[in-house]
Amino acid sequence: MQWHRTFLWFVFWALMASAWTFYFENAWGWALLALSTGGVMTWRRYQAVKVAIWAKSPASNLPPENVGPWVNVVAELKHFTNIQAQLVATTKETADAIVLAAQALPVGVVALDHQFKINWFNKSAQQHLNLNQTLDMGQSLLNLLRQPEFIQYARRTQWPEPILQKLTQDGSTKHLVMQFVNYAGNQRLLITRDMTQIDRLETMRRDFVANVSHELRTPLTVLSGFLETLKDAPPDALSTEQKQHYITLMYNQAHRMQTIVAELLTLSDLEASAQAERVDIDMPKLIDVARQQAEGLSAGKHHFVWHVKPNLHLQGSHSELTSAFSNLLSNAVRYTPEGGNIEVEWAIDPSGHPRFSVTDTGLGIAPEHIPRLSERFYRVDRGRSRELGGTGLGLAITKHIAMRHNAKLEISSELSLGSCFSLVFETSPMA
Ligand code: ADP
Repeated sequence: MQWHRTFLWFVFWALMASAWTFYFENAWGWALLALSTGGVMTWRRYQAVKVAIWAKSPASNLPPENVGPWVNVVAELKHFTNIQAQLVATTKETADAIVLAAQALPVGVVALDHQFKINWFNKSAQQHLNLNQTLDMGQSLLNLLRQPEFIQYARRTQWPEPILQKLTQDGSTKHLVMQFVNYAGNQRLLITRDMTQIDRLETMRRDFVANVSHELRTPLTVLSGFLETLKDAPPDALSTEQKQHYITLMYNQAHRMQTIVAELLTLSDLEASAQAERVDIDMPKLIDVARQQAEGLSAGKHHFVWHVKPNLHLQGSHSELTSAFSNLLSNAVRYTPEGGNIEVEWAIDPSGHPRFSVTDTGLGIAPEHIPRLSERFYRVDRGRSRELGGTGLGLAITKHIAMRHNAKLEISSELSLGSCFSLVFETSPMA
């Protein structure tokens, strides 16, 4: 349109110049036409230069104004630039989202080139392999993970199976499952998964099964030994007293097995549900029942002192708290020699929490054993515990009950001087 108009103007002025020449009989008309045509061309050139300069980076500058015939070109270019900018923004958003998603993956991902040089890794990989964002980027992974077994695995061309590796860093050992995956031609991804916790649980499970078998095998061996003696002895070889004695020993072993199985079932019940029931408990009354049991077990061999705060009640499971308190009291009775003192307190401690504590003047426990006392079947002196009818499960049960009541089991002890076992409840006492 612009060009048509310019052309028509040019024709008009050419006619005018011809008319001038014809009428005045000189060439000034043509001179004027040449001058104005030159002016128009310079102006157009100036507009074209403006557009050309803007077109070098149209996204970052405002489009030029008064560009004459270039106005449509500028508009088209501006429109195209906007579409491009939107496309770039969307692509960047998608790429950012993909990187964020890869960062959030619970598995480790390391992007490598064909020579195992590290191009990128996510946070999980950083933790699993202890990689450093600035130092290790661009390094060969095989210089960082040098176990011969891993190097051999990496040198293969296909990795249909993962490899299990133990990595020891800063004193702790991680169990990692790792697998390479080919992608984008000759690039590789290393996928890592931390199995430390699962392996630990598996070891605990194996130990537990071994412990249970061992604990049950001992009384079972004794029991079958006596049964064999009774079975093989000639009819009159054993006196009635001897037979009675054997039967009592067999009964004790059977009872022991029953106790172990009952306590294991208690533990498994406690593990099956996360939260204890919540009923209002008259704590002084509950402690009074535990007191009767403990004093009965002691049979007058110990000196008891009781400080029970009246009206200090809690919410929780009556049977579980009875079991936890009784465990602590029966341990104090069993591990305190005759004539010792046992002091029991139920009160609000200085930090404002209800606390049940049992302090004895018994055998005491060496410091290295204290952190392990609540492990299943852990005993300081296995023989002594057995002699005293212990199973090694009492404190494990007590700790579980404590956790289910939002309480902590605190233990302080000194060898040969005595111990203090406390349950400190985080929940506020009931008014
Ligand atoms: P056990 O059935 O053997 O008593 P527990 O789980 O109740 O099992 O206790 C674990 C171990 O902690 C006991 O074998 C004993 O060695 C030690 N222990 C518990 N309470 C006391 C205590 N009051 N004084 C000394 N040692 C204790």
